[in-house]
Amino acid sequence: MAKRDYYDILGVSKSAEASEIKSAYRKLAIKYHPDKNPDDKEAEEKFKEAAEAYEILSNPEKRQRYDQFGHAGNSASGFGGGGMNMEDIFSQFGDIFGGGHPFESFFGGGSRSGGGRRVQRGTNLRIKVKLTLEEIAKGVEKKVKVNKQVQCHTCGGTGAKDKSSYHTCKTCGGAGSVRRVTNTILGQMQTTSTCPTCNGEGVEITSKCTTCRGEGLERGEETIAINIPAGVSEGMQLSMSGKGNAAPRGGIPGDLIILIEEIPHETLKRDGINVIYDLYINFADAALGTSVEIPTIDGKAKIKIDPGTQGGKILRLKGKGVPEVNSYHKGDQLVYVNVWTPKAVSPEERSVLEKLKASANFKPQPGKSEKSFFERIKEYFE
Ligand SMILES: [Zn+2]
Ligand SMILES: [Zn+2]
Repeated sequence: MAKRDYYDILGVSKSAEASEIKSAYRKLAIKYHPDKNPDDKEAEEKFKEAAEAYEILSNPEKRQRYDQFGHAGNSASGFGGGGMNMEDIFSQFGDIFGGGHPFESFFGGGSRSGGGRRVQRGTNLRIKVKLTLEEIAKGVEKKVKVNKQVQCHTCGGTGAKDKSSYHTCKTCGGAGSVRRVTNTILGQMQTTSTCPTCNGEGVEITSKCTTCRGEGLERGEETIAINIPAGVSEGMQLSMSGKGNAAPRGGIPGDLIILIEEIPHETLKRDGINVIYDLYINFADAALGTSVEIPTIDGKAKIKIDPGTQGGKILRLKGKGVPEVNSYHKGDQLVYVNVWTPKAVSPEERSVLEKLKASANFKPQPGKSEKSFFERIKEYFE
């Protein structure tokens, strides 16, 4: 299932101000709060979805990346992508509701501090994606079929045999934790501990699903569309929250971690954001000038070689390189001009070369205008 637009989720316009976003989220958080909708998977999904949308849109940097790149903008490594678990969501409430936890009083639910319902988390799934230089330069959507743990189709991920064998835990009332009051010499002490009956999950399953033996999981396949932004490089990791393995009994799925691998290009070499091409021209073309067709990321391009071109000259094709990730800045293509020296010559060629050798024009006479090797390197890499 494709991720929904964050603005749509919160029901605000793209130009909504921070206060509007906050108030929209506050309403949804109250509406779909798990304490108010016990055992309602759909409400739980909506609750998490709204929290994720708020997480991105309430942060100016993340919001800007989202506006620019969509969901991929905040999934690249180093940008704090990653999914939100219930703990994250509840800790987010501090700034939404101005401190304190309003839900206890709103819904009369059990406190979440000290214990609280344990929500299981699925494990992360790692895959490798191989990309060509062209794909890296332009960004690409890759559809990848992954084998992973999905919700059991028989029980819908609950782990229960049927509806009648799935109950809110009687010991803890679904809270996942129990409070005990003990008398000590210091007076009454209240302790909270994980509910022993349900192991903190808040539900009791009297009869387990036979397909998954109560785990709520089975092996399955999913085709996932991965939006890879332009400019990624070998070894970079992207993560898609919630696309990893499903969690036991309807918990929060893990993340999909995508490791980028580069497929070497046949003729072009990547150097950061620049692309390097080694051009060989023959000695006659270097002297007389020519025009040659060379490969670029965007296909073939014709470039002019001036008469009298020295070997070692570097030509620059502006903007024909790779973009920086999440930036409009693009690298260039650098063309290194090498003059090809024949490795063997025929007797006829030899006599021509002998004649040329005697000519005054063939004696190297570097002038002041000739740049040194180091000057050339400095000029192009600084
Ligand atoms: Zn319990
Ligand atoms: Zn099952």
